[in-house]
Amino acid sequence: MAKPILIANWKNHPGSLSEAGTLLRQLSRNSRLYKRLSLFIAPPLPYLGTVSLRTRNFASLATQDIPAIFQGTHTGMVTSDILKSFGVRLVILGHSECRALGETSESVSQKVKIALRSGIVPLVCVGETSRDQDGEHFEFLRDELKLSLASLNRKADTSKLVVAYEPVWAIGKSARDAIVPADLKQSVIFIRKVLTDMFGRKTAEHIPILYGGSVEPANAGVLLDETGIRGFLVGHASLHAKSLGAIAESLI
Ligand code: PEP
Repeated sequence: MAKPILIANWKNHPGSLSEAGTLLRQLSRNSRLYKRLSLFIAPPLPYLGTVSLRTRNFASLATQDIPAIFQGTHTGMVTSDILKSFGVRLVILGHSECRALGETSESVSQKVKIALRSGIVPLVCVGETSRDQDGEHFEFLRDELKLSLASLNRKADTSKLVVAYEPVWAIGKSARDAIVPADLKQSVIFIRKVLTDMFGRKTAEHIPILYGGSVEPANAGVLLDETGIRGFLVGHASLHAKSLGAIAESLI
């Protein structure tokens, strides 16, 4: 059985390298626990070197985005190949906060291809902005997923693909406002069906689906219970060593 996956999306936090150092020191006290799962830390870019050095024995490096370019000369860009050379193993793509700033599913799809070419696992985020009684959010979800993965054909490198279901309405709140397990289960079944339509059943059943959106120690356990997810993408709670440790405990 593959290990559960836990992604810590630090976004633009902590506010300084010394604070990041404090968090890393606290996280390392739980290194034994983290070795039992696949923990990825996605810090702000300038912290990559420090995170890499200080988590080597219990976590892998991730990044929060890559540019939609592969070759050429581009001022201000940190390309996927450079990130790969730093040890980055996974990239978060299509996060709703990037989509809110103009990221389109078409550019996510391009980045998926670029990440794979660089040997980086693309973690593709999808999620509706609101949920409605008539189930219209499923249409939105299907379109977003299909467009974001359009660069992959049936036989493509889906063995390296991870999908994160992150309903936008549930991000950055508290456990109380997160999705309920029954709705999560329904969305996961739906995503699996879309992946099956795109890549065939055998391929689709191996693509891990994670959940993200206000995962905290208080709800991590129930969200895992028969919902079909393989792990979590965690934002605010990943900045607190105790909370991340408790979420990791629920995964093993
Ligand atoms: C996120 O932004 O990916 C996320 C899951 O955030 P939070 O856990 O804070 O809702």
